[in-house]
Amino acid sequence: MSDLAAMQRTALDAVAAATDVMALDTVRVRYLGKKGELTGLLKRLGKLPAEERPAAGAEINTVKSALQQAISEKREALEQADLEARSNVDALDVTLPGRNAETGGLHPVTIVLQRIEHFFRGVGYDVVEGPEIEDDYHNFEALNLPEHHPARAMHDTFYFNPNLLLRTHTSPVQVRVMETREPPFRILCPGRVYRVDQPDPSHLPMFHQVEGLLIDHESSFADLKGTIVEFLRVFFEKEDLQVRFRPTYFPFTEPSAEVDVQCVHCDGNGCRVCSNTGWIEVMGSGMVHPKVLQYSGIDPEKFSGFAFGMGCDRLAMLRYGVDDLRHYLDNDLRFLRQFS
Ligand SMILES: [Zn+2]
Repeated sequence: MSDLAAMQRTALDAVAAATDVMALDTVRVRYLGKKGELTGLLKRLGKLPAEERPAAGAEINTVKSALQQAISEKREALEQADLEARSNVDALDVTLPGRNAETGGLHPVTIVLQRIEHFFRGVGYDVVEGPEIEDDYHNFEALNLPEHHPARAMHDTFYFNPNLLLRTHTSPVQVRVMETREPPFRILCPGRVYRVDQPDPSHLPMFHQVEGLLIDHESSFADLKGTIVEFLRVFFEKEDLQVRFRPTYFPFTEPSAEVDVQCVHCDGNGCRVCSNTGWIEVMGSGMVHPKVLQYSGIDPEKFSGFAFGMGCDRLAMLRYGVDDLRHYLDNDLRFLRQFS
């Protein structure tokens, strides 16, 4: 027992001198292990006279717990120093947040397509798709555009051969539906269309159209107007949006009208976007020509209908203030991120 104080000093010195966790463990085993020096003292308590045992035991235990605490503090300090040393070597800041995978967004033209589809599904239209490579009959002839018809010149067409082409509008999808479905029906045909054009701020050789067609026992120009005006007000989120119909010519509708909306940029006051007219043309429309119905085997005496078509790329330009159609194809992340 006389050596206890000396043993405590030596042990604490050894703890303080330990330079790594292994050295510290050696000190722990030497004093506190199964065959350690302090453990040995506790075992030999039994050889002391009974009256001395409690005091001696208490003394040894005090030294033991002091040593245990010193070791545990030293271990923590060594581990902390070790971590710091390693993070300096690797120059790794383990507290930095991880690198997240970025979430993508939908393309503005896709967003506009979805908005249009959402509206028309809500009023009972089926969404129908068709082939982008079409034959001359479905793209032109069945739409009252026979060979040598002057209006064909309005469509600068990509031809594979005299009979096969890239569709210039989504109208052939409507023809295919009229050929196979029994009216009445309402359909919406979205998709890519192609025309020979040099890309510039307002033209692309490939763009997106949505066309709608309703065939029923009775349908009137008033139904057409009501449908289109309501759609445009919902699309541009403006309840009192002014809409006007201008008479025009399309081979597949009669009568036909181009549809203008009050310029959404200047509220009709005149600006660069609307060429100071206060109006912007957004779609074409009309009552389906009886000949077009006949071509597809629908009796124009029993059925009538209306059709309309719009360019999604242009609607997306108006809605998001895009000034150049080519942005849609550049894949510039600075442009695309604005829509995510
Ligand atoms: Zn304007």
